[in-house]
Amino acid sequence: MVGEIISVGTELLLGNIVNTNAAYLAEQCAALGVSCYYQTCVGDNEERLTETLKMAFKRSDVVILTGGLGPTQDDLTKEVVAKLMQLKLVEDSKAKEMLISYFEKRGIEITDNNWKQALVPEQSIVMYNDNGTAPGIIAEKGKKTAILLPGPPGEMKPMFEKYVVDYFKQRNPFVISSVTVKLCGIGESKVESEIKDLIDKQDNPTIATYAKTGEVHLRVTAKAENEKEALKLIRPVVKKLKTRFGEKVFTTEESVTLEQAFVDLLLANNLTVCTVESCTGGLVSARLINVPGVSEVYKFGHVTYSNKAKRKIVGVKKSTLEKYTAVSEQVALQMVKGAGVFSKADVAISVTGIAGPEGGTEDIPVGTVFIACDVKGNTRVEKFQFKGNRTKIRENAVAAALTLSRKCVLEYITQVSFGNKKDK
Ligand code: ATP
Ligand code: MG
Repeated sequence: MVGEIISVGTELLLGNIVNTNAAYLAEQCAALGVSCYYQTCVGDNEERLTETLKMAFKRSDVVILTGGLGPTQDDLTKEVVAKLMQLKLVEDSKAKEMLISYFEKRGIEITDNNWKQALVPEQSIVMYNDNGTAPGIIAEKGKKTAILLPGPPGEMKPMFEKYVVDYFKQRNPFVISSVTVKLCGIGESKVESEIKDLIDKQDNPTIATYAKTGEVHLRVTAKAENEKEALKLIRPVVKKLKTRFGEKVFTTEESVTLEQAFVDLLLANNLTVCTVESCTGGLVSARLINVPGVSEVYKFGHVTYSNKAKRKIVGVKKSTLEKYTAVSEQVALQMVKGAGVFSKADVAISVTGIAGPEGGTEDIPVGTVFIACDVKGNTRVEKFQFKGNRTKIRENAVAAALTLSRKCVLEYITQVSFGNKKDK
């Protein structure tokens, strides 16, 4: 079924309010298996709304409109829809009763223009409004359907959930289900090129790639009669993706973040962690502390932004700072060692870099970041060159720090278990 969303309201066109209704409806439609190819925003104007609606009916089966159902002169959605669909407006007795009781309860006198809210297109499904005065409407004519919802999100969303979800489920007897495979330590174009064959022949399920900061998410979506059947289609594709990307897959759970996956890894292996940060100023630590239960593993976090702090807190040598500058492999290594010694954590992470916009040189341009990780004496340091503004560079550095540390911990675990096997 093809759907389309029309958001009605001059306020939207002027940018006075953000069109959150369209985002909500688009997400709901996707989950219900209604394909939406167009979204339009139009002002409270009869002629332009009529034109927009005509166009929408040409290309879609179901048109969902929000806004313009109120009592005032500029609220004209229902009138325009009824006229175009050639449906008479008739009074709905329950809507009228609800209108009377709504005003009575609040001790407000009903004004003449309020009565128009009890009018609905003939033979339509009326969606009674528990949170306001304007009823919503599902009007059908031939193969076309118009779904009219009030503008205020607090009225629109409960109405959608109470009536429209069931309506779509009846008309569209299949479900859309998806699983997200989340990757780190690999760029979007590399991911796409590695699964080009799968993408080229995709049908049901489909694979969509989403680039996030330092992560790539692959959403595998299937259409089936029920959830169980959809998962049956999805599972083999997820398995293939896991085989192709190996340890780069940090989770297949929608709710699991990169920091959560890393903390889970530490918890599962009884490893504690500490951080020492310069340009990220505590962001790595903040992401780790996002995770409930991190207190089991998180020992210490230092922000050593100045050279003095690097020397005093984690024992970076003055001579190293002078010879190589603060943004160097040598300093990242001394920071990570110093932090590990100070906190006695099993895993230490250090970040030093230049986030700009000022201070870059030819040798060390803005965006240069060194990240080091030490896992029980096994140390690794990597240089990164990030693009973008200060915020972007810092966010990328945090993601890279989590990714590199996860990789180092995984390597350590493999080494340990391999060593143990050899001993036996
Ligand atoms: P009312 O009975 O309140 O007049 P209505 O159905 O006529 O409701 P509008 O008059 O178009 O709707 O909008 C009323 C309010 O609803 C707006 O001021 C705005 O706060 C909110 N609203 C309308 N459309 C949207 C939208 N697309 N996204 C988010 N909020 C919206
Ligand atoms: Mg209104």
